[in-house]
Amino acid sequence: MRRLRNVKIVATLGPASDTYEMIRALHENGADVFRLNMSHGTQAEIAEKHRIIRQVEEDLSSTIGILADLQGPKLRVGVFASDGEMLDEGASFRLDLDKAEGDSSRVCLPHPEIFAALEPGKTLLVNDGKIRLRVETCGPDFANCIVVAGGVISDRKGVNVPDVELPLAALSEKDRADLEFAAQLGVDWMALSFVQRAADVQEARDLIKGRAAVLSKIEKPNAVERFDEILAVSDGIMVARGDLGVELPVQAVPPIQKRLVRKCRNAAKPVIVATQMLESMIESPMPTRAEVSDVATAIYEGADAVMLSAESAAGSYPIEAVTTMDNVAAEVERDPTYTQIIESSRTSNRGSVANGIVAAAREIAETADIKAIACFTQSGTTALLTARERPRVPIIALTPLVGTARRLALSWGCNCVITGVMDRFKGAVVGAAKAARDEGFATADDQIVVTAGVPFNVTGSTNILRVAPCDERLIYSTDPE
Ligand code: PGA
Ligand code: MN
Repeated sequence: MRRLRNVKIVATLGPASDTYEMIRALHENGADVFRLNMSHGTQAEIAEKHRIIRQVEEDLSSTIGILADLQGPKLRVGVFASDGEMLDEGASFRLDLDKAEGDSSRVCLPHPEIFAALEPGKTLLVNDGKIRLRVETCGPDFANCIVVAGGVISDRKGVNVPDVELPLAALSEKDRADLEFAAQLGVDWMALSFVQRAADVQEARDLIKGRAAVLSKIEKPNAVERFDEILAVSDGIMVARGDLGVELPVQAVPPIQKRLVRKCRNAAKPVIVATQMLESMIESPMPTRAEVSDVATAIYEGADAVMLSAESAAGSYPIEAVTTMDNVAAEVERDPTYTQIIESSRTSNRGSVANGIVAAAREIAETADIKAIACFTQSGTTALLTARERPRVPIIALTPLVGTARRLALSWGCNCVITGVMDRFKGAVVGAAKAARDEGFATADDQIVVTAGVPFNVTGSTNILRVAPCDERLIYSTDPE
């Protein structure tokens, strides 16, 4: 679906957005990628959402990315008998290994290793740090706590223990099962939570075996420290500000966000800025000014995508939240200051033919009256390199591989069109011109830049740049085979 913006929108699906009508409306209003959170819901529910997304994709002849987000070694409480319980400051609250449903006095924390590592006086943070518990007494299977900062606790809320070093594996048994399940279902991106080192990513890659692209969520202090090595083995990154802002002081998050977004662009790998972007819209149809500014900031920084979590998964206004992001993005990208910022942070990447071609494509497209850059891509790399250039004209990524198109749904500016398998450059130019016209980027009187690798269907062979008319008759009369 053609958008009037380059930044992409990721919307998390949940109980507020699990019907065909809602998922379709979210896509029509701006969601480019849907996040399936493996921490919530059964595999059957995940499979149903996946089925609906693919149905919407087919019904609208659109390309939609699906990101499965593995829970990772995140500590979470169990479930409650009620919708949620209010914990008041000063009250006692017990965590234990008993799987029975929780109430106002206790809940299960199904992690024996955390009880082994706890000591009286240690702090447990629940629900993005909103609730603060101090351990009074503890044993191998329980911790009796005092509520230091109160709030509502409900099913499977996250728990952080900032002052305890926890010996946890990168992928739990549940993650391994979910990973295989999601890979077989056919997702485009697999997100890894609480990555701490490159080896964690590599371990997941070995299990995913190319069936999905791998996205590392940066939400631990040590992942920030080791960011370069993690980025090198990841296909994409999420600045997971929720847990990052719990594990580190909140004021540490903005500079980290800026640095990570910039590094990802330099590496030509998509980066999502996530969490609490429009938090108040869980309950209100209007965002706060600060939230609007936060979304805008991420876009000015050059993020590939901005994300909705509970706003679209569990809030009362999922469509309004997507629409708000869409409106903010369109406004920012119309701002000449945005163009200035994006252009001044472009790095010159030479040293390969592909880099030279995408840079030349942008320069030509911006100096002459050209309506789009159409690039043929197998693995998606040429489209990613073109996106890194952040050209002022739209990018049309043409690929015969639906999986490549779906992965590119996360990347800045990539408008994907599925083509037949190409074998001749002339046919490819005709196909690109047709796509540009059909998608409304150009008319028969316009010109586009076409890049491709010949021979076709070989990854990493980008070697041709052609300024082409969009009128098929002109292509046929002027182009060599
Ligand atoms: P989560 O990740 O929503 O899975 O916790 C995002 C974050 O921590 O910001
Ligand atoms: Mn998180």
